[in-house]
Formats: sequence, C-alpha cells, structure tokens
Amino acid sequence: MKIYNEIDLYRYNTMKLHSIARIMYEPENVDELLAIFRKLKKEDTAFYLLSAGSNIVFGARIERPIVYLMSFNTNMSFCEDGILECGASVRIQSLLEKIKEFSLGGIEYLASVPSSVGGAVYMNAGRGRKIKRSISDYIESVRYLDIADMQIKNMYGNDGYLYRSSPFQSLNTVILSARFKFIKQDVDITNRLIKERLAYSQRYLSADKPSCGSVFCLMNPVIMRLLRGTRYGGAIFSKKTSNWISNIDNAKVGDIEVLIGKAIRWHKVFFSRYKIEIRFFK
Ligand SMILES: Cc1cc2nc3c(=O)[nH]c(=O)nc-3n(C[C@H](O)[C@H](O)[C@H](O)COP(=O)(O)OP(=O)(O)OC[C@H]3O[C@@H](n4cnc5c(N)ncnc54)[C@H](O)[C@@H]3O)c2cc1C
Repeated sequence: MKIYNEIDLYRYNTMKLHSIARIMYEPENVDELLAIFRKLKKEDTAFYLLSAGSNIVFGARIERPIVYLMSFNTNMSFCEDGILECGASVRIQSLLEKIKEFSLGGIEYLASVPSSVGGAVYMNAGRGRKIKRSISDYIESVRYLDIADMQIKNMYGNDGYLYRSSPFQSLNTVILSARFKFIKQDVDITNRLIKERLAYSQRYLSADKPSCGSVFCLMNPVIMRLLRGTRYGGAIFSKKTSNWISNIDNAKVGDIEVLIGKAIRWHKVFFSRYKIEIRFFK
C-alpha cells in the first residue's frame, strides 16, 4: 500500500487543479483496501473515494483522507457464458481493448471518456440523455464493499440505474468489480465505432483543454448555450461545447464555482430545472 502525505493532486484530476491532500491511501489489492476502510471506520473518519478523477473538482486543500482506487483491482477475466468480470481500477480503454479481442462490443462511445470502470459504474457513464445508452446496459452484477457492515456483497441486474445515476450514489459503498455481458460484434465494426467516437469527440467536445466533461446532467440547453465563452479567472465555459468548463489558465476551484453559480442563477431566473453532474471534494 502506498500512503502519500501533503500530496498535490494535479496528476490525479482531469481538470488539472493543484490541490493539496493531507493524506491519500493507495491500496494495491483488496486486502489492503479492506484494511484501510476498517481503520477509517474504527476512527469514524469521513473520506473521499477517487478513481480516474475525471468528474471531480478539488478544493485547494483536502483534509479528509482520500482513498485512491486505481491500483487495487486491475483484473479482467471471463467467467461463464461470455460474461466478463472487470476490476474497478481498470481504465475503460483497457476494457474496450479486452472485449475487442473476443469479438464483443457495445460501449465504443466510452472510448473518449477518461474513466475507470468503478467510476463509470458509479456515474453510469454513457451517451447524451436523449440517446439512452450507458454502461449499465451491459451490467450483470456489481461486487461492492458495504462500509456499514464491512461485508462484500453483490448487486444483481441493472435496475435503479438512471441517466448519470446508479444505486451506489445513495449507498456508502466501494465498487470492487463488475460483471458485464457485452454484445457479439465483429472487431472491424468495433474499431470503426471507436474511431468515429474519437473523431466526434475531437470535433465537437473541448477535450483538448483540462475539464471534467459535462458540468450539469440536467439543465436548460438555451441557458448553457448563452453562457458559452463566459470566463472567470482561469476557467471558461467552452466556446465550442455547451455545458463544459475548461481550465485555460491555472484555474482555481473558486473560478469554477463562480461559473457554475452564474449558470444556476440563470436557471433560477427562468424556473429551469438543473442538476450538477460533477462532484466537489473540498
Ligand atoms: C474529456 C471528458 C469527457 C467525458 N465524457 C463523458 C461522456 O461521454 N459520458 C459520461 O458519462 N461522462 C463523461 N465524462 C465524465 C467522467 O469521465 C465520468 O463521470 C466517469 O465515469 C468518472 O469516472 P472516474 O473513474 O474518473 O471517477 P472519479 O471522477 O474519480 O469519481 C467520480 C465519482 O465516482 C465515485 N467513485 C469512483 N470510483 C468508485 C468506486 N470504485 N466505488 C465507489 N465510488 C466510486 C467517486 O467517489 C466520485 O463521487 C467525461 C469527462 C471528461 C474529462
């Protein structure tokens, strides 16, 4: 297990914020992970779970312990009936490569998403709201640690997953692995779909600058379009992509909060519903 004190989280978040974490644990297997949570539970300490950091905005300093989940379970193996069990620490791109080898597919649209499997399950990562496609379409079961009783459990099926929402968001759990049943698909088709997704991302999304992807998962698209190009400090609502904040000049958490605050105020003025997708760790 690795333990970092006073660590700069710059390389652990895709928004590229400099944030100092008082302490960060990096378990390298499930036993180490269990040991950390036993300790945190015994001390009754609140903590943050961090995977690929592609949906998180960090405060300038984080006092709560962070448990970094990108090393404890990188296994991928086929079990019965074409079902693949995949560790939470696996990157989505590695999962895509693996299933391609076995002529399976279905999640090529995630090729442009800098996510872990655990983070993707937690956030139910997927395409835009209207397209109704997300990683949960292929979930058979999820193995997780229930912090309340420190038991490892399984959640079967994919009920309770909604747009950018999973049942784990209202539970105190750590996703350990997931079993997926992907569709049979010729590797040439998979390669073509991945290529198309990456081209789409390059053309329409501001993925060239540090960001967290979409800011809101429920919003008024007209308001978000009008906010394009609005800048505060080092952060800007992308001119190219609505609902997307880029870090263009050493942005601070406060810059991002001001921009989100502006968007929320406009939603309130027009009685529009909104929900923030990105998470704040402060
Ligand atoms: C360039 C870019 C493009 C993006 N495109 C998309 C897109 O097309 N579709 C989409 O849905 N999202 C997109 N996103 C957003 C983001 O990538 C997803 O939300 C992603 O699934 C988050 O995964 P992560 O591993 O980075 O999780 P993190 O950002 O590290 O964590 C996100 C949340 O999940 C929790 N979490 C993480 N791992 C676990 C675990 N093992 N157990 C329990 N909780 C956990 C964390 O505590 C946190 O609350 C994009 C982001 C970027 C930067």
